[in-house]
Amino acid sequence: MTDGVQGFETLAIHAGQDADPATGAVITPIHQTSTYRQPTVGELPGGYDYSRAGNPTRTALEECLAALEGGVRGLAFASGMAATDTLLRTVCKPGDHIVIPNDAYGGTYRLIARVLDRWGLEFTAVPLSDVDGVRAALRPNTKLIWCETPTNPLLGIADVTALAGIAREAGVQLVVDNTFASPYLQQPLILGADVVVHSTTKYVGGHSDVVGGAIIVRNAQLGEDLAFHQKSMGAISGPFDSWLALRGLKTLAVRMERHCDNAESIVELLSNHSAAAEIFYPGLESHPGHEIAAKQMRRYGGMVSFRVKGGQQAAVQVCNRAKLFTLAESLGGVESLIEHPGLMTHASVAGSELQVPDDLIRLSVGIESVEDLRADLLQALG
Ligand SMILES: *Cc1c(COP(=O)(O)O)cnc(C)c1O
Repeated sequence: MTDGVQGFETLAIHAGQDADPATGAVITPIHQTSTYRQPTVGELPGGYDYSRAGNPTRTALEECLAALEGGVRGLAFASGMAATDTLLRTVCKPGDHIVIPNDAYGGTYRLIARVLDRWGLEFTAVPLSDVDGVRAALRPNTKLIWCETPTNPLLGIADVTALAGIAREAGVQLVVDNTFASPYLQQPLILGADVVVHSTTKYVGGHSDVVGGAIIVRNAQLGEDLAFHQKSMGAISGPFDSWLALRGLKTLAVRMERHCDNAESIVELLSNHSAAAEIFYPGLESHPGHEIAAKQMRRYGGMVSFRVKGGQQAAVQVCNRAKLFTLAESLGGVESLIEHPGLMTHASVAGSELQVPDDLIRLSVGIESVEDLRADLLQALG
């Protein structure tokens, strides 16, 4: 149905999602089954034998994600961390080395520094904005460069095309965690990356009702290797979770446009408010990564961080006073969230090189009426 179709919005609604051949159902069914009948031994009419290896609802999500990222294969997992773990243990073996951002997502850092280190994976953490520093960190046993852009919670920007050049020169893979941008705002494979990882829990699912992850690749053999590991390790996305993520994808484009509109309005409000000391948003011309973001992103996203005057106590007060902005971890849902990274999402990195300022507030700007969001933030700022 999607042959010859290029439009993102069309692919989001149709790629991998032909009407069900058995019933004509327009929407992909939730194939809540663990196993599949074989008419004769070894005969698999639908190509499926057991749902850890494959499930039609999961396949629909995987094909849609691959289409949206411009990859040849997608794989859906139980969480973003399950996707990351499977990827690292497929591409690397004990004794290998990887380069990671010094402001990596906390869960990614914990997996690499405290779980996979015992398995024998070595790593170097560097600022990805320093391209020469990334090149200098490469070793003969380096297998991949891990990139996040924009980063969490300081919205740092890395140049995906430049990093892809370094990776290609060195014969290593460039992996981009595209969770913050979503494929609507940024397509790393098209910018030269080899692998994209998502926490579909965030913008892809988009409604804070599912935990999931994904990997998308542009090399078919790597896709095969990952599918073998996915089946062997078993951290798959279940049928209902796959269906929720697929349902979320259909509206990703329109949601992202509204997330961006509302975030821009909130940034404007903060820029003119005396309580905001410093604002982190790649759409600001004063942001050090603005030019690169303008080159590689369609728009600048729904995440906004800012420091408040008055230190940690003032920041905590703003979080506690917010009403419409719900005080909660996570991001990317239709509802607006506020949090204090130092005491919440990033509490575990206190004292490490990933520590964040204690007067920092992070907003996941939702798609409510922007007037209501502005009014709530104004009263919370006091
Ligand atoms: C949430 C998140 C993850 C982890 O995903 P889970 O679905 O929570 O396992 C990875 N990377 C980024 C950037 C995230 O925001």
